[in-house]
Amino acid sequence: MWILFGAKTKSKVVEGGRRGERACPDCERHTTWVECDVKDSFNVFFVDLVDTKSRCMRCAECGEDCSIEQWDAEQRRVAKAIGAPAATPSSAAQPVAKPRAEVDVDAEFAALKKRLKKS
Ligand SMILES: [Zn+2]
Repeated sequence: MWILFGAKTKSKVVEGGRRGERACPDCERHTTWVECDVKDSFNVFFVDLVDTKSRCMRCAECGEDCSIEQWDAEQRRVAKAIGAPAATPSSAAQPVAKPRAEVDVDAEFAALKKRLKKS
């Protein structure tokens, strides 16, 4: 008696999933990466026995994939290297805080003028 078994991997792009660009270690180019659902299944006589589902980011050019965790870590590392404001929320808040302070000064000045006129 013989047993026929096999394994297959299917992946599908997640509709409305994440998308981004990064340098692909396989293509050695800057490519678009898309979020994919990956299903690994193991079957005996064409009957699927074990299914594992996972999510990953995949290079749209060559199919190289990496885990979501790896992808996030890489994005953070790149953002830090460039000094993108998204990586440092405290510095991103500064430009917003400044004009607000000026408005407050103007309002205070106007209030002071009113008080001076009254007295
Ligand atoms: Zn690639």
